[in-house]
Amino acid sequence: MLLEKQYEVHGIIRPASDCFRLKHLLDNPEIHNRRLFLHQSDLTNPGTTAAILGDTSPDELYHLAGQSHVGLSFEMVESTCEMTALGTLRLLEIMRHLKKRPRLFHASSSEVFGQPASTPQDENTPFRPVTPYGCAKTFATQMVCIYRQTFGLFASNGILYNHESPRRGADFVTAKICSAAAAIKQGTQRELALGSLTAQRDWGDARDFVKGMWLVLQHPIAEDFVFATGELHSVQEIVEIAFAAVDLDWRKYVKQDPGLLRPNEPARLLGNAAKAQRLLHWRATSNLPKLITEMTKANLTKGVSESYSGLNS
Ligand code: GDP
Repeated sequence: MLLEKQYEVHGIIRPASDCFRLKHLLDNPEIHNRRLFLHQSDLTNPGTTAAILGDTSPDELYHLAGQSHVGLSFEMVESTCEMTALGTLRLLEIMRHLKKRPRLFHASSSEVFGQPASTPQDENTPFRPVTPYGCAKTFATQMVCIYRQTFGLFASNGILYNHESPRRGADFVTAKICSAAAAIKQGTQRELALGSLTAQRDWGDARDFVKGMWLVLQHPIAEDFVFATGELHSVQEIVEIAFAAVDLDWRKYVKQDPGLLRPNEPARLLGNAAKAQRLLHWRATSNLPKLITEMTKANLTKGVSESYSGLNS
């Protein structure tokens, strides 16, 4: 989206990353190393990150980095906090000491609300995280507010509800279901094991959400915004849509695996994006059946090298 807007984009990638999602851009000589530049670092390397920010002197900084898988955060509590919580703090510290400070967008998460006292949630709903990931994001989100209030940084949180697209990693439930429905249709997979089918989320289209991130940084004042569709759907509904997209009866293929149930789940995470609608003129244009059908069909056309096997979580 930034390249379409004619930005010069500098991305920070982890040294081990194979950048498979950027392949179409890296293969384009008009773009790679002309308008899109990649630099190696990560949130545990503040010295390198500071040098990159000093050298490139960005106007806008979009911070989406971190261990973002909620299920995995129960297994890797310390490294989740190290990257997602302390990593954000380190970035704020770097920004505080930069001669030219960029505007910062921090991708916060609906997981900060955890098991909220009220539904739907908005920018005034108290944080009550119930997962290590949610707790790390709460720390990071609150630090962004503190650095804004105390040190005058232009730093804003986007409190993002789940957002999906054909580029979603295979260890998230929508992508896992869509890729399984396509693989079962093509005869390369026999069944699909899932955890909770009754879990509900407010699932949107990632393409709407990146527009929201950009709008936050064009807004004259640094402040926080909830981005959500305002609709709740269950995991089972995703299964029904994905299997219907390839003309299969999901009941024949989907089984529940108690090993995939999480130790704790947030409850009724439903967002109210009225503030973003009012001040940024942002709208969630998404239509969940259309999005899940698109994600499923994208897997039918994917080559083996493109399909990405994440953790079975
Ligand atoms: P999250 O909201 O960031 O945790 O996004 P996920 O896509 O990982 O999970 C969404 C919901 O789907 C959660 O309530 C999970 O417990 C539920 N779920 C059910 N089965 C699975 C599964 O096999 N994998 C994942 N990732 N989630 C599952």
